[in-house]
Amino acid sequence: MKVIRLRAGKERSLLRRHPWVFQGSVEKGKADPGETVRVESAQGQFLCWASFSPNSMIRLRAWSFDEQERIDAAFFQRRIEAALAVRARLPIASDAVRLFHGEADGLPGLIVDRYRDTLVAQFLSTGTERWKAVIADQLLAATGLSRLYERSDASVRTLEGLAPVTGWLRGEGETAITIAEHAWQLSLDVAEGHKTGYYLDQRDNRKKFAELVRHYGCQSVLNCYSYTGGFSVAALAGGASEVISVDSSAPALARASAHVALNGFEAGRHQALDADVNQTLRDLLKAGRSFDAIVLDPPKFAPTAAHAERAARAYKDINRLGLMLLKPGGLLFTFSCSGGVGPELFHKIVAGAGMDAGVDGFILDRVGAAPDHPQTICFPEGEYLKGLLILKR
Ligand code: SAH
Repeated sequence: MKVIRLRAGKERSLLRRHPWVFQGSVEKGKADPGETVRVESAQGQFLCWASFSPNSMIRLRAWSFDEQERIDAAFFQRRIEAALAVRARLPIASDAVRLFHGEADGLPGLIVDRYRDTLVAQFLSTGTERWKAVIADQLLAATGLSRLYERSDASVRTLEGLAPVTGWLRGEGETAITIAEHAWQLSLDVAEGHKTGYYLDQRDNRKKFAELVRHYGCQSVLNCYSYTGGFSVAALAGGASEVISVDSSAPALARASAHVALNGFEAGRHQALDADVNQTLRDLLKAGRSFDAIVLDPPKFAPTAAHAERAARAYKDINRLGLMLLKPGGLLFTFSCSGGVGPELFHKIVAGAGMDAGVDGFILDRVGAAPDHPQTICFPEGEYLKGLLILKR
């Protein structure tokens, strides 16, 4: 077993059970991509078993802090079974579930979503890449399923020196799937959709939005960055008479329109707009439009804290325009899924947007990702999705 020795003082985060060690913290030692290594402090004290990543800024990812634990097939089986046991107890109103959420579930770099009878996995680190076959077999054994599609095409793989990989890893067949979320039917294609095909993390916020649209009697709803229209279906279910989905992806919008029909809503209540949100918000303002409710769920503007400043300007701009487009008493459901923008900074950005728009509002709620995307005490980076629900004054 190869040993990696850390610089003096650099053992602190591992002692707090944070699973990452950055390049600059390593004093000496080398290994192959994904190889399991023993990590020791400058004094030679055992810290963790980890996977080595020679090309990444995150040089080591901890597998286990238990010196007695062996990193073998049984180890992966234990981690996977523990994650499934937690999911079995969580309130999840869907047959589509995030079964495994990386660091929070104890395997850094492994994401697994279940869509009915199909698993979709992302192997995003050299460690998970090296153990891929074992992980795939353990996932199928633990779930009793036979199909696993790989979507290791996220850009973070490049940082690990890994090429993108997609396709059936186990089993085969149709990649189009229809899931049930709350009382709704939603479709996706695991081969073509974003990430693993669908944004499961917004599940509970869609339900909340449907309830709010109904409670406040919202009629006109603007769903920005709609993807396949999850929040649009929610708005229609809440009784909205006019819903506009805006996205720059034509296939996503086609699916959004299909979802309106699939859920039995009249096509005339929904409009799909293939356009840039920034431009659309400006155009709508110029045209004198206003809305009872607006959703802003943009892509990750700041993947890391280094991008936070530019991202802050982009978030502020869309939130300013969104607040201006809202009727008094209207609802803004605004999100950031940037790991580099924490909840406090996001709140500040939205406050700045309100100042610039000359608009104040009540913060009715602060929300996060659905509970099958857990956050843990030791890994604050896990808190990526933040949302504010604002009632305009
Ligand atoms: N709210 C969605 C998820 C949004 S993901 C849901 O509930 O499922 C972000 C979306 O923003 C993607 O669909 C992407 O195509 C879209 N997008 C990214 N940049 C955009 C832009 N400048 N204008 C319009 N849409 C954009």
